[in-house]
Amino acid sequence: MTNQGNTLFWFRRDLRVQDNHGLYRALTSGLPVIGCFIFDEHILSSLEDKDDARVTFLHDTIHDLQEQIDARGGTLIVEYGKPEELIPRILDEYHIQKVYFNHDDEPYALQRDQFIAEHCQRHQISLYSFKDHLIFERDEVLKKDGLPYTVFTPYANAWKNRLELAGLDQDGYPLALSAFPSEHPSYPWKKVNSSRIPSLDSMGFVASEKEFPPREVKTSLIRQYGDQRDYPSAQGTSRLGIHFRFGTISIREKARKAYHLSQTFLNELIWRDFYAMILHHFPHVVNGAFRTPYDQIEWRNDEDDFRKWCMGMTGYPLVDAGMRQLNATGFMHNRVRMVVASFLTKHLLINWQWGEAYFARKLLDYDLASNNGGWQWAAGCGTDAAPYFRIFNPDAQQKKFDPKFTYIQSWLPEWGSASYPPPMVDHAFARQRCLKVYQEGLNRSK
Ligand SMILES: Cc1cc2nc3c(=O)[nH]c(=O)nc-3n(C[C@H](O)[C@H](O)[C@H](O)COP(=O)(O)OP(=O)(O)OC[C@H]3O[C@@H](n4cnc5c(N)ncnc54)[C@H](O)[C@@H]3O)c2cc1C
Repeated sequence: MTNQGNTLFWFRRDLRVQDNHGLYRALTSGLPVIGCFIFDEHILSSLEDKDDARVTFLHDTIHDLQEQIDARGGTLIVEYGKPEELIPRILDEYHIQKVYFNHDDEPYALQRDQFIAEHCQRHQISLYSFKDHLIFERDEVLKKDGLPYTVFTPYANAWKNRLELAGLDQDGYPLALSAFPSEHPSYPWKKVNSSRIPSLDSMGFVASEKEFPPREVKTSLIRQYGDQRDYPSAQGTSRLGIHFRFGTISIREKARKAYHLSQTFLNELIWRDFYAMILHHFPHVVNGAFRTPYDQIEWRNDEDDFRKWCMGMTGYPLVDAGMRQLNATGFMHNRVRMVVASFLTKHLLINWQWGEAYFARKLLDYDLASNNGGWQWAAGCGTDAAPYFRIFNPDAQQKKFDPKFTYIQSWLPEWGSASYPPPMVDHAFARQRCLKVYQEGLNRSK
C-alpha cells in the first residue's frame, strides 16, 4: 500500500465499467482504485422468495464485473452483510482516503449513504457522489417558478429543452448524453487480497431458472418501437428494464441511440426520470397517494379476490395472461401492467399498495419510483393520472391490443375450455361500484 492511501469505488446500481460516471471520476482521483460491492443483508433478508431471480441476476453480474476488473489489474471486493458495518471496515483495512459512488435516491439508500457520509466526515475521508442512473435528476428540471413539475407532458418538454441547451458533442449528440470514457490510458486499479464472492447458498438463496433479457436491442426494434410497443404479443419493447435497474447498461448510451431513432422510446426514458424526480420531491408517495384525498377511499381488500388476481384466475383473459406472464417470467408488458393494475384497484377495489407490493416481489425490472408511479397512475391517485372515472374495460383492451388472442393463448392454455373460470365480477357492476366508492372517499376528504 502507498502512503497516500487508496480510493474506494462502491458499486451499487451501476454494475458496469463502461460509461460509469462515478467510476470514471474515481479512476481520475489520483489514487489507486479498489472496487467493492456489498450484497446488502437488509435488502436480501426482506425478499420472500428463495429463488428470487434478481438475486441470481445480481450474482451473475458481480461475477462478470469481477472478471472485468481483474483483467484490468484491479480488485472487486465482494461481501455479504450490512453496509454500515462493512464499509467502515473496508475503509480501515484498505487505507481508503477517498470514497466515490453514484447517487441512489431511494429512501433506504439515502439513509444508508447519510450514515456513510457521516462516518467519512468523522474520519477525514473525502466522499464524492455523482449522477449516473438518470439523464436529469433531483432539481435539474424544474418549472419557471422553481417548483417541481407534477404533470408529465410539460416536464418532458422542459427535459428536452434542457437536453438541447446542453450543447452538442463532436458526434452531434447533446452533451448531457455524452459517455464517460471507460478505457482510461493507464488504469490506476489496485490489486489487493480479498475473499471470494459469497455463494448464493451462503446468503440463503438458490439459483433461479428464469431467463434474463440481453443488454443489447436491435436498432430495428427501437426504430419500430412507436408502432409496436402497445401489442403484448409483438415483442416490440426493449426489455431493458432490469438492466436500467441494476445499471448493467448506461442510460446515456441508450438515450443517445433513442435520440435519433425514436422519440417515442426517448419519451419512455423521460418517464423514468419523471418518476424518479417525483419520488425525490414528494417522498410521501412511498406510503400513500400522491393526491392525499385518495387515501380516504375505503378499499374492499378481499383476500380471496386478491389471490385470484395474483394467480391469474379472474376470468378476464387479458388480466390473467398478464399475471401468468409475470409469475412465470418476472416480466409483464406495459399495456397489460396498466390493465391488471386498473382491474385490481377499480374492478376489485383492492388498495393499489397491495398490487404495488406484489409487483415489487415479482418484477425483474422492479424499481420503486417507476412501480409506485405506475400503480398510482392506474389507481387514479398519482401525479399524471387519468381521472378516476376513466375505467379500463379489460375486454375492450383485449379487442384493441390482442385482437387475435395471440398473447392470451400463449399464457392461458385452458382459455376457452371448461376449466377456465367465468369473469369473477361483471364489468358494468364493478364500474358503478368503483365510481360510488371513489366518490364517497373523495367526499370524506373535503
Ligand atoms: C402498474 C405499473 C407498474 C410498473 N412498474 C415498473 C417497475 O417496477 N419498473 C420499471 O422500470 N417500470 C415499471 N413500469 C413501467 C413500464 O411498464 C416498464 O418500464 C416497461 O414495461 C418495461 O419493459 P421494457 O423494458 O420492455 O420497456 P420499454 O417499453 O422498452 O421502455 C424502455 C425503458 O423505458 C423505461 N420506461 C418505459 N415505460 C415507463 C414508464 N411508464 N415509467 C417509467 N419508466 C418507463 C423503462 O426503464 C424501460 O425499460 C410500470 C408500469 C405500470 C403501469
